[in-house]
Amino acid sequence: MPEVVIVGAGPTGLACGIELKKLGIGAVLIEKGCLTNSLYNYPTNMTFFTTPELLEIGGIPMTSLNEKPNRTEALKYYRRVAEYYQLDIRQYERVLRMDGADGAFTVHSMDRFGKAQTHAAKKIILAMGYYDIPNKLHIPGGDMDKVIHYYREPHPYYGLEVAVIGAKNSAAIAALELFWTGAKVTLIHRGDRISDSVKYWIKPNIENRIKSGEVKAYFQSSVKAVYADSIDIETPQGIVQVKNDFVFAMTGYRPDFEFMAALGITLDEATQKPRTNPETLESEVKGIYLAGVVVAGVHTNEIFIENGRFHGAAIAASIAGAR
Ligand SMILES: Cc1cc2nc3c(=O)[nH]c(=O)nc-3n(C[C@H](O)[C@H](O)[C@H](O)COP(=O)(O)OP(=O)(O)OC[C@H]3O[C@@H](n4cnc5c(N)ncnc54)[C@H](O)[C@@H]3O)c2cc1C
Repeated sequence: MPEVVIVGAGPTGLACGIELKKLGIGAVLIEKGCLTNSLYNYPTNMTFFTTPELLEIGGIPMTSLNEKPNRTEALKYYRRVAEYYQLDIRQYERVLRMDGADGAFTVHSMDRFGKAQTHAAKKIILAMGYYDIPNKLHIPGGDMDKVIHYYREPHPYYGLEVAVIGAKNSAAIAALELFWTGAKVTLIHRGDRISDSVKYWIKPNIENRIKSGEVKAYFQSSVKAVYADSIDIETPQGIVQVKNDFVFAMTGYRPDFEFMAALGITLDEATQKPRTNPETLESEVKGIYLAGVVVAGVHTNEIFIENGRFHGAAIAASIAGAR
């Protein structure tokens, strides 16, 4: 029986498994999708804003043909690291709930054949990320199939009327790639301009497309309703209805607060940050640790691979100490 069950095999979960292994503590990683499932679901042609050495885990060097790695290079790197450390990873197995207490937990999951599985463990690490739950639009038509929260690549939208909601990195990249691929792009944002957090090599590009009118932009505006062939945009000048085939709602994502709350973990009312010991990342529920972006609550831009990768060492040291 492994001592520790890690929920999630993203970069943080992998780092936790490695640090535990280095201390001779057995762990199994349970992953509902493929290895680093969130990274796999990122835009196909995505380039990380981080340089390779800041994405490294387990002391394994990461290389890239470019100054910043792309999604394919990152996927290959994390596969190689998982292989090098011979981590015990159960892919396509979703953790549904867990019960028990410190020293004797039971984790209940469902594998890809729909078969119920259970795993006993003395300690639990939740490294479940945030990319699986999009911030929905909550407007009429907001749940239509044509409303997409996960941009992958532009080709299927060639020649079509596409709206992009948002003005941060994901929205800017989607809008540019769709424009370059021949889609007719309309960008809608509540703020008055493209966010300053947009990568420096992208910001001037999207701003120039907007200035030249190649990408139509509605700032200080929001989408009020989605219909089969159009959308209503509330602008400072009133409601505007525009032709539309697809809506990319780049409105961000959030951790699974319900899952944590069901375990008895207290979430801060304002930030939804789970209450943890800042040194060890142990939650109030003894024996349950939180790692990676899940500790950031709604402020998911505070924890990313660059800093979440260090959570593993702190947690492993605490578990070793608790032995
Ligand atoms: C487009 C984009 C670009 C980014 N670029 C960068 C960058 O350049 N540099 C950087 O540092 N960060 C970047 N980030 C942020 C970074 O990817 C995340 O912060 C990082 O993935 C968090 O790692 P994690 O392991 O905590 O979570 P995740 O990578 O999300 O991993 C969590 C894992 O848990 C699994 N899981 C969830 N629920 C369950 C369950 N119930 N049962 C089993 N498994 C479960 C998920 O499938 C997933 O694989 C970017 C994010 C996005 C969206």
